Amino acid sequence: MPAQGAPSSPVLIDLHVHSTCSADGESSIEEYAQRAEILGLAEVGFCEHVDLDPRDRGYGHLDLERYDRELAAARAATHGIRLRQGIEITYQSGLEESLIAWLAGHAWDYVIASVHLVDYTDGWAIISEPEAMGAYFAGHSQRQAYGPYFAELLRAAQSGLGDVLGHLDLVKRFGVRHYGPLDPSAFEEEIRETLRAAAQRGMGLEINTSGLRQSPGEPYPALTVLRWFRELGGEVLTVGSDAHQAEDLGRGIAQALTMAQEAGFRAVATFEERRVRWTDL
Ligand SMILES: [Zn+2]
Ligand SMILES: [Zn+2]
Repeated sequence: MPAQGAPSSPVLIDLHVHSTCSADGESSIEEYAQRAEILGLAEVGFCEHVDLDPRDRGYGHLDLERYDRELAAARAATHGIRLRQGIEITYQSGLEESLIAWLAGHAWDYVIASVHLVDYTDGWAIISEPEAMGAYFAGHSQRQAYGPYFAELLRAAQSGLGDVLGHLDLVKRFGVRHYGPLDPSAFEEEIRETLRAAAQRGMGLEINTSGLRQSPGEPYPALTVLRWFRELGGEVLTVGSDAHQAEDLGRGIAQALTMAQEAGFRAVATFEERRVRWTDL
């Protein structure tokens, strides 16, 4: 049962949560589970980072035994909330075989495939590092800076390596400071191609609400892109806060569920052992 005073509707789900099992997470799985009870969430999905490139901050951080142990303890201590065990892979087209081998080593409820690191022809940058991205943006046009990101995202969708594409247009996180708000139509061709590839493979998209708390002031992606996904036959849509601390758990999810309806979705997806489970909107 939801905690007293918690919203009874809509059904609150958050499938993009990082605990201290991720290099950049600040709250434990237990703290999230306690917060979820207070908020009355129905389902929480942890998706800890796995980065197989030594350039990435999270490289070598994830301890699977600890992840299993802490999640099992939280499940035992929590009642009425489904706690899912997911993973967020940093997709890199040069590392597909390593990612496939790594993913085969453990059972997951779901896999989010995200692009965090972009290899440019004249350098590389990690999307979540404002200094490096800022330096790159300062010397390049929006097309030069965003084009390779969207190209890698297309390869992620074509790879089918994952159940959900993470934060589709994360490149705007710090990009908006240089180029202003992202108009998706400027990259419509490549975004639509990505959405089509994802829809054809049954791969989903997420509404990642962290963008509401960050520079863009809108989710990753915005409504226009969700509509395109629906038009192109996309059905699997998840919602997640990308919380790295318990106080952000569930933030923006009610808004995301409204957006999902506006974009024409009748249900949102969650996962159990890589199989979709639907929650009606
Ligand atoms: Zn991510
Ligand atoms: Zn994340």
